[in-house]
Amino acid sequence: MSTSETLHLPALPYPRGALAPHISAETVDLHYGKHHAGYVANVNRLLAGTARRAAALDDLIVSSSGGLFNNAAQVWNHTFYWRSMHPEGGGDPSGRLLAAVEEGFGSIDGFRKQFVDAACGHFGSGWVWLVAGGDSLEVMATSNADLPQRHGRTPLLTIDVWEHAYYLDYRNARPAYVERWIANLVNWEFAASNLAAL
Ligand code: MN
Repeated sequence: MSTSETLHLPALPYPRGALAPHISAETVDLHYGKHHAGYVANVNRLLAGTARRAAALDDLIVSSSGGLFNNAAQVWNHTFYWRSMHPEGGGDPSGRLLAAVEEGFGSIDGFRKQFVDAACGHFGSGWVWLVAGGDSLEVMATSNADLPQRHGRTPLLTIDVWEHAYYLDYRNARPAYVERWIANLVNWEFAASNLAAL
């Protein structure tokens, strides 16, 4: 198999310990090095020897199903999740994104409450997203590997609420993880760049 027909694990956008103390290097080692890497390996194994082996990830996440979809979407979701965080994250958005958040949620605090409530309240494994919908921004929750592109929405940022994202650092206290994430790690510049690309 040539390398062009194989998915690769994208590099982390910062060192493995850069999100501490909010997310530990140990969590990143497992989450990135085992979970994310495992999804990449599973996609390559499932595609090996099939006619779809050269399919691009962006195609797989909207056109595949079953185990191939689950693993391909988890590759996409995790790559997007790492970029949704920044060691110097947190604070408030600015410019066009701030205006869009205020239009969609009334205020930045209104957004934060809706996002945190969705992330804390989502039952089981999944993802909570800020998405661009029809006319305005929305908070969206998806289960397991599901992602906004399957529902006609464009993701701007995401938080992973699978237990493997926070259990080492926060045990069962998902709200503590979510609150620390939105206060200290959220990467508004990444969300703004995704909005600007629309
Ligand atoms: Mn995860």
